[in-house]
Amino acid sequence: MRLLLPTLFALIWSLQVSADHHKNPLEISADNLSNIVKIMASDEFEGRAPGTPGEDKTVAYLIAQLQKIGLEPGGAKGSWTQAVPMMRSEVKSPLKMTFSSPETVLSLDQGISVSVDTATALTNITAADLPVVFVGFGANAPEQDWDDYGDIDLTDKLVIYLVNDPDFAAEPNEPVAGRFGNRRMTYYGRWAYKFEEAARRGAFGALVIHETKAAGYDWSVAAAGAGENVSLANKDPKALPVKLQGWLHNDAAHELLATAGHDLDALRVKARQPEFQAFELEGIRFDADLEVDITTFDSQNVLGLIPGSARPDEVIMASAHWDAYGVGAPDEQGRTIRAGANDDALGSAGILELARVIKAQPALERSVLLAFWTAEEAGLVGSMAYAADPIFPIEKTVANFTLDILQTAGAAKDVILVGKGQSELEDDLARVAEAAGRYVTEENLPENGLFYRADHFSMARVGVPVLLMMGIAGGADLVVGGREAGNQWIADYVGNCYHKPCDAWSADWDLTGAVQDIELFHQLISELGNAKRWPAWKQGSEFKALREQSASVRQ
Ligand SMILES: [Zn+2]
Repeated sequence: MRLLLPTLFALIWSLQVSADHHKNPLEISADNLSNIVKIMASDEFEGRAPGTPGEDKTVAYLIAQLQKIGLEPGGAKGSWTQAVPMMRSEVKSPLKMTFSSPETVLSLDQGISVSVDTATALTNITAADLPVVFVGFGANAPEQDWDDYGDIDLTDKLVIYLVNDPDFAAEPNEPVAGRFGNRRMTYYGRWAYKFEEAARRGAFGALVIHETKAAGYDWSVAAAGAGENVSLANKDPKALPVKLQGWLHNDAAHELLATAGHDLDALRVKARQPEFQAFELEGIRFDADLEVDITTFDSQNVLGLIPGSARPDEVIMASAHWDAYGVGAPDEQGRTIRAGANDDALGSAGILELARVIKAQPALERSVLLAFWTAEEAGLVGSMAYAADPIFPIEKTVANFTLDILQTAGAAKDVILVGKGQSELEDDLARVAEAAGRYVTEENLPENGLFYRADHFSMARVGVPVLLMMGIAGGADLVVGGREAGNQWIADYVGNCYHKPCDAWSADWDLTGAVQDIELFHQLISELGNAKRWPAWKQGSEFKALREQSASVRQ
């Protein structure tokens, strides 16, 4: 042994020297993560807003890194990218928008009583004398035997929704309790679902009554950027959005419903009963005449592929979003660039690191697709565009692993799970975490519906099982300082930096915890990459039935 040891040390030493930065090439490197973020979050990249010179630099940088690692292009027709046609619309202020009854007129002000925009390409949106329908939470959930709509016709009407889902505020003894995940938000609670459901039913527009607790954020957040919308251009004509969408302030909603002879607070309780049915507001009419500025541009998703050695048509995805908020108003220190260093340059760096280590290890039987999405911040646009027009068939996409914000406060004893009860990937995560001496903690505010608010959801929506790492989903149990320190990190980051210039690269970051989390994804991808099994959605998931429709393709 004594004689062998020096030889062994020499061997290890020579292996390390031959690798970059004296590191084991098969391990996620904190230094690499930091160096990548430092570049992507530098002033030169101008906050990586889609459709700006910052996008061109970001896309070129990501492609160069993927080429350096030795990946193959994973985009359309052998390219590194997928074009995402985008549209930016802005409803001009002041608004001409009213609710009226024979006796009263309630005029609506943008940013004050409403926050409305459009995802259509219309430059003029007019409504005259439209009926107004209150649909409660507007859930149509056959798996829960729940339907708020009944026979009501919403064609060319304005539809008013309550935010969140029917059991969010329910007492434990109410019949609805637990049918919609209790305080955990289900898809039915998201405004995206409500707008889509209204559109499917031919409604003119949909407004969601804002309420801070049930929405997860206050009115100032709901009203920020009122009138603006960035969305996919050239939408599927079968799935055209409502012409007008947005928030209705709680006070304005109270006034509107009182005019129609209803008490909003009483309706909130009534809408939690299974027998609740949507109804038209008697005597109320909606009128609007809005001018809209529309501009269009092309943005890019970046895609790299590691082809599988045995079953290349079976694809595992790992993804993050490359975009951030661009240039904005100066903060107290005069900084204008919202560099999104953590959100989500760090996630992108994590995907590049995953690409590097997976490429360095023996080839997996299944393919691995590394995706860098555009325009997440505008509403998951890049990932939605991929899901609508996938390069690799969705039916044979094994799983999606998404990184979006990772904590920078050091090693953690646990890993935070977002979306408990959704898919078998959560059991896989628990297993690899345990093997690494860690444990799983559920996200701390499931009522905020984080599971429906990052790019992984675009894949879930088309049936692909997903797993998300999101550093703000719950305070980690840090090795130094415990849960308290983990919660403090979130309070500082969300309170001061989230979507602001303060989200900048720092030499002081401790990326040990981020490395640990990315390493769990590395293990899950490596395992699934050589497996024949297909992770499934769990009983009760909103996405189970959709995935099962294509089960025969995966036999
Ligand atoms: Zn993000």
